[in-house]
Parts: sequence; structure tokens; C-alpha cells
Amino acid sequence: MSRSTVARVDLDALRSNYRLASERAGPARAMAVIKADGYGHGIAQVASALADLAPKYAVASLQEAQAVRASGQHQPVVLLQGPHAPADLDVAAEQGFEPVLHSGQQLDWLDASASKARFWLKVNTGMNRLGFAPTDLASVMSRLEAMGAKRNLLGFVTHFACADDESDSMTARQTATFLEATSAWPEYMRSVGNSAAHFFPGQPLFDWSRPGIMLYGGSPMMGRTGPELDLKPVMSLEAQLIATRTLRKGEAVGYGAGFVADREMRMGMVSVGYGDGYPRHAGTGTPAAIRGQRIRLIGRVSMDMLAVDLSGAPDAAEGDTVELWGATVSVDEVASCAGTISYELLTGITARVPRLYSR
Ligand SMILES: *Cc1c(COP(=O)(O)O)cnc(C)c1O
Repeated sequence: MSRSTVARVDLDALRSNYRLASERAGPARAMAVIKADGYGHGIAQVASALADLAPKYAVASLQEAQAVRASGQHQPVVLLQGPHAPADLDVAAEQGFEPVLHSGQQLDWLDASASKARFWLKVNTGMNRLGFAPTDLASVMSRLEAMGAKRNLLGFVTHFACADDESDSMTARQTATFLEATSAWPEYMRSVGNSAAHFFPGQPLFDWSRPGIMLYGGSPMMGRTGPELDLKPVMSLEAQLIATRTLRKGEAVGYGAGFVADREMRMGMVSVGYGDGYPRHAGTGTPAAIRGQRIRLIGRVSMDMLAVDLSGAPDAAEGDTVELWGATVSVDEVASCAGTISYELLTGITARVPRLYSR
């Protein structure tokens, strides 16, 4: 008998979310960000499902870009961290990958390899992770000219730090800095915009936006859930109700005996735990659902199991399917109960959980 814990992936929902991203990107085209195994959904399946919609993909590493090619897709794939070794530039040229160069060392590699890869330049407008300082761009451009690489430059990229918060003025400041830094070279393309920027009022997305989490139905905006932004849940994490019992008032549940029943209550055990990627930090009160009815977690999450209070689903029976997140409970709600974001939950589903695809 196979274990009943599965992640169902609705590829139609993924496609619908991509269409929304594309509409919201306005005149910009949307490159589908499918790094981290398609945010845990399976990079090959995600790339294939979006093949007729997305003109470009973006990933973090060369290995991920190769997985896209192995899935049979031919669109350009942007390497968001650029090359990690000189040889990556040769592979990029052969395979149609577009590295984003962010450092002097990567320019040295480009110079040495004379690679014909088309590439982007990352501009640091305040996130301070990667990128050339705006004041260094002119010298970077002269260097590219001198080494004969300028003709392979596609354009400029920057990344927002605070676009999930509409009340924060940093996004406007970063946008202004980016425009000013690149204004001397209007003939090149510009790319800004994680998912949050697609919902940020009045935010220009220039030539290429880069939606990630919204494609998978997770909310990029602080304090909002995906469904509240018209995003469709793509992953449903499901397990089975494998035992039920009645707790008497005063009885405790699970490791540390941290939850104590304040009244008689029917409870159940569910076949999913942190060994599957369900967050151990999701405490008592975190929602789940049975038969479309909301129930709540009680006590500590174990490696292979967790406990639920069945008061909200009086007809629940052993063998029932339990939704940990999906159509009834958004992954954003669970993330917020666990003190994290949907990104971490979706990318954290472990290898023992089979992904089951539908369209
Ligand atoms: C991951 C990533 C994105 C996508 O971000 P989301 O918040 O998931 O939409 C866009 N741009 C860069 C540079 C990234 O690293």
C-alpha cells in the first residue's frame, strides 16, 4: 500500500496565474520564474505546462536551466545569478541561457572566454545583494565595449526589496535610481518586477517582468492571501486521517504534551509531518480542512504525523483525506501561522511526497 500523503499540482491553475501575471505586466512581457524546482512543483512539469504561454524562463543556476532544456523546452532561460564558473558562459552560449552578470569577476570570465552568450547586467539599486553600483555602470559599459561584448548585452535588471508593502516608498526610490542609472543607454531592455511589483499600484515593469510566487498561487503581498489577489492555488498538500479518538478534559497530545484539552474533544492523527516539509513551527490553531470544513492543528508537529481537533468536521472518519493547504486553506495562512512565507513551504516539500499532476 502506498502512503497517501501527496502534493497535487493543478497545471491549469498555474496557467491561469501566468495569464494574470502577463495581463498585470501590461506592455511588459513576463518571464516565468521557475527556480527551486519550480517553487517545489517540479521544474520540468512547470516548464512544459507554460511552454506555449511564457516566452522566457528564469532560474537561479545553470543546473536548473539544463533541467528546463532536458524537459524539451527551447525558450531562452535567464540565469539570475549569472555564471558560477567561467565554463558556465560557454554552456550558456550553446544552450541559449541568458546570464545576469553582477560582478567584476564575471566580467573577467566573460573577457577570458570570449563567449557569445547574450547577457544582462544587474544594477544594485538598494537591495544590496548583487549588482553593479549605478556609479560604476559607465565604466562597465566601456569595458564591455573594449572587449567586444557590448553587442551581446540584452539589457539591465534590478530587484526590489520592499514591493510587498504598498506603503513603503523604497520601491519608488529604487525605480527612480534604476531609470537614472540606465538612462544613458535607452536602446537596451529593462527588467524589474518580482510578483509583488505586479500588484504594486502604478509600478512600471518596463520590458520584462519576473513573476515567481504568484504563478504558484502564493501571495506576494504582506497581509494578503493568494485567493484575495485572484490567484488560484496550484499545490494541494493532502494526507490521510489515520486515527481518531476522544480526548478527555485535561489530557495532552504529542511531544512535550504541549496541548492540553480544555474540554472533551474528538481528535485525529494525520499522516503528514515535518519529514514531508510540513512546517514544524505551525502551532495549535493552524488551519487544515476535511471535506471542505476547516479544522485546526493541536500540539506539536511530528516527523510523520500531526494531530488535529475534529470539532470543526463532526462527520470526519478514519481514511478521510485531509487538506493541509489547497482550495479551502491557503498556503499563505499556514505560512503565517508558522511564522514564514508560502515560498518556504512550497519549496520545502520533501522528496518522499509524490507530486501528482492534473490539467
Ligand atoms: C526569485 C526572483 C524573482 C521572483 O520573485 P517572486 O517574489 O517569487 O515573484 C524575481 N527576480 C529575481 C531576481 C529573483 O531572484
